[in-house]
Amino acid sequence: MLVLVVPHAQGTAPPSPLTLISRDGRRPVPTTLVNGQEFIALDDLASLFQLAVRDDALAGGVTVSYKGRTIVASADQPMASVNGRVVTLPAAMTRVGRRLFVPVDFIARAVAPIYDTPIDLRRASRLLIVGNIRVARVTTRIDAVGPPTRATIEVTPALLVSQAADAGRVLVRVEADVIDPAPPPAPAGLIDQIQTGTQTTTVAIALNARAGTPRVSTTTTTESTRVTIEVPLAAPSQDTSTAPPPPALPALPAPTGPAPPALPALSGPKLQTMVIDPGHGGDDNGVRGPKGTLEKQVALEVARKLKTLIETRLGVRVVMTRDEDRSVSPDERDAIANNSKADLFLSLHANGAPSADVKGTEVYYLRLDRAGEEARRSTAATELVLPVISGGTRPIDVIPWDLAQAAHVDASSRFASMLEEELEKRGPMGPRPLQQAPMRVLSGANMPAALVEIGYLTSADQERSIQSADVQGGLVQGIYDAIVRFRAFLESPPSQ
Ligand SMILES: [Zn+2]
Repeated sequence: MLVLVVPHAQGTAPPSPLTLISRDGRRPVPTTLVNGQEFIALDDLASLFQLAVRDDALAGGVTVSYKGRTIVASADQPMASVNGRVVTLPAAMTRVGRRLFVPVDFIARAVAPIYDTPIDLRRASRLLIVGNIRVARVTTRIDAVGPPTRATIEVTPALLVSQAADAGRVLVRVEADVIDPAPPPAPAGLIDQIQTGTQTTTVAIALNARAGTPRVSTTTTTESTRVTIEVPLAAPSQDTSTAPPPPALPALPAPTGPAPPALPALSGPKLQTMVIDPGHGGDDNGVRGPKGTLEKQVALEVARKLKTLIETRLGVRVVMTRDEDRSVSPDERDAIANNSKADLFLSLHANGAPSADVKGTEVYYLRLDRAGEEARRSTAATELVLPVISGGTRPIDVIPWDLAQAAHVDASSRFASMLEEELEKRGPMGPRPLQQAPMRVLSGANMPAALVEIGYLTSADQERSIQSADVQGGLVQGIYDAIVRFRAFLESPPSQ
């Protein structure tokens, strides 16, 4: 019988390199993923930090030295000796081709302790900060949808900020060398978009057309600086067609570094919210493997890992249709997706087959029946309603709710193909890797949607492998890579 093959010592590129920030500027630092673990080449590290590296056959590893201080990295154990003190690493050194790679944590745990200037590895924001750089952690949140809509920008540590505001937007510049932004919240109320760039130190908040002039105030404590923004509705009597134009924004002082690039037209990112739908739950176990593994359980495990990766790497809001062991009807799953105005829907399942030999990952998107085909051809029919969580129903689209998916089948098919291509790089695919099928849970989703059967639990091999962190990590990475590609597809200008 075949066993799932996890490629060993064969790296793949993570979605973005680390960015090294020092007094000299910024530069990308390439890393590579091996079995879900992020590694950096030892020769790259040596040139970045002026380290000397030599093989140390006696110690059974590699000696790294810097100004008379040494690190001995073990060849086969996930540990290193740093100036005589042992530190653990998430993985041992590995060889890819002729180059040696160490886990990126090697930088923080082994190099930083022997280095002259501070080194701060911030994995969530992909930053490697070298030297005394003023880094501001910037967290934006919406406190009240309103109106008035209230938002807070928290800057840690306390630093000077300058701001400018008019009825269209609020700009807040932080007097730091670099900002380390937390993923911004989804826009709400009178706020249409929040941009926290990593290339500038400005937070830009775009306001709704109905917004009046916002009030912005700043308070500072010993720990942080807090900018409070209150956006009222525009005065109803105001006739905007004859009103004088609002005064131009005052220029922001430009203390350090290049000016931020001109703000684009603030058309929001096309992938802001996605829904992950772990199949089954509660009384409904789904498929049960020969050893008792339940589909509902592995679907939830993989969904949680995927959610974490998407939120930390992409800053996309992820809504789960369930995050515990409860039963959820297909309609409720779609209602959650439609209600949260998600831009993408992904359902996760594990498969079962009468033959224990069938295995592999499969991707599905919706096959329309005849009514669905008709709905797709004439999307301007009558006003119909979709179920939503709070208020029963509300008009969303012009197609019957169980045919909501009809308008998105082309995009869903693109997404499904990307999933198939990316998952194929990560593990074995099933006998029919990409399929179209009528599926209740996909039909009511008013957004591009696909379903992944991560593997066959009825295969004893796959039941075992699918529970391993490596295999789950590979699946999650493959799905993530497909989402990154699909986001680029959504944001690329139409080709015709
Ligand atoms: Zn299922």
